[in-house]
Amino acid sequence: MPLEDDHGRAVTGIRVSLTDRCNFDCVYCHNEGLGDTRGPMDPQDGEMTADEVVRVLEVVHEFGVEKVKFTGGEPMLRDDLTEIIQRVPDGMEVSMTTNGTFLPGRAAELAAAGLTRVNVSQDAIDPEAFAELTKSGAYDKVIEGVEAALEAGLAPVKLNMVVMEPTAGYVPRMVDHVAENDGLQLQLIEYMPEITGHPEWAIDIDRVHDWLTDRADRVEHREMHDRRRYYVGADGEAETPDIDAGDPDGPAAGEGMVEIVDPVENEEFCANCHRVRVTHDGKFKGCLNRHDDHRSMADMTREQIRATFRETVANRVPYYGEYMVKEDGQWVVNDDYIDRPVPTADDD
Ligand code: SAM
Repeated sequence: MPLEDDHGRAVTGIRVSLTDRCNFDCVYCHNEGLGDTRGPMDPQDGEMTADEVVRVLEVVHEFGVEKVKFTGGEPMLRDDLTEIIQRVPDGMEVSMTTNGTFLPGRAAELAAAGLTRVNVSQDAIDPEAFAELTKSGAYDKVIEGVEAALEAGLAPVKLNMVVMEPTAGYVPRMVDHVAENDGLQLQLIEYMPEITGHPEWAIDIDRVHDWLTDRADRVEHREMHDRRRYYVGADGEAETPDIDAGDPDGPAAGEGMVEIVDPVENEEFCANCHRVRVTHDGKFKGCLNRHDDHRSMADMTREQIRATFRETVANRVPYYGEYMVKEDGQWVVNDDYIDRPVPTADDD
């Protein structure tokens, strides 16, 4: 049985950053809550070894964690990625978020090792805009990477697009793109300014929901995650769609699927968060936005990692609605969490 925090949220997933190095320098990147990434050739000291990654996965698997997502930085900069994927405990679903540039020539090997799903970041469908956003000229490699993933049987490939002022204009073309190409889905991720700054880039995500409702042939509302799935046809001539709360049945032939991930100031989103994170340097992290909840696993025994995981889960609270509360219309840190010392395993 998965562990639950005091807010009734079972922890069923873990998101593991394998490195904070990256070959891109995306202008919006939160680097899994840690801020700037480092260059691809920077030293690798401090990164968890493959053994350390596998050990933490084995421990959390004992507690009913069924899914792992590898991320970074750019996880494909790890030379031992195939080995890590191969050594994920049996029964754990393995997925990865990548910028896609290293998928050509490697996607099949990763799929054979046990990778089942991949998200590829693509924030614009225009090479120049893409270069501006990522500070890289690798647009064609990313497109090739998506194709390589599809060829390796990793469909559906989810394209992650951060929606903010500089990218919002590309949403319609990205939606057409997934409608016109089999095997692709689109995940529109609301820009989170909390860690990266630039509040002026934030957009009103409700306008994107409204636009998609008009564009979609049908909309499915999944109560459990409070998420909508928009199914879009290639012709873009939808009438007002049906909103269906029934069981998801997936996209029909010739349809694309679009989801919106909208965590900013969203209590519902936080109430439905079921994952913990591990930083590239081996610290549990209960929440993307918090910096006072890291618990290091350096030099720990398996038993100590178990205790630290229990502690991490026990200390998880919804960011919006509990850690941050609204006062006079403004989000402020709940007094209960100001200057509260975070216990670490060293205190045992
Ligand atoms: N390098 C990989 C990649 O490009 O996907 C993995 C790391 S990246 C930090 C993981 C995901 O975080 C990406 O899908 C990216 O779009 C998303 N992301 C990063 N910064 C963000 C922000 N400020 N707001 C919303 N999403 C963000």
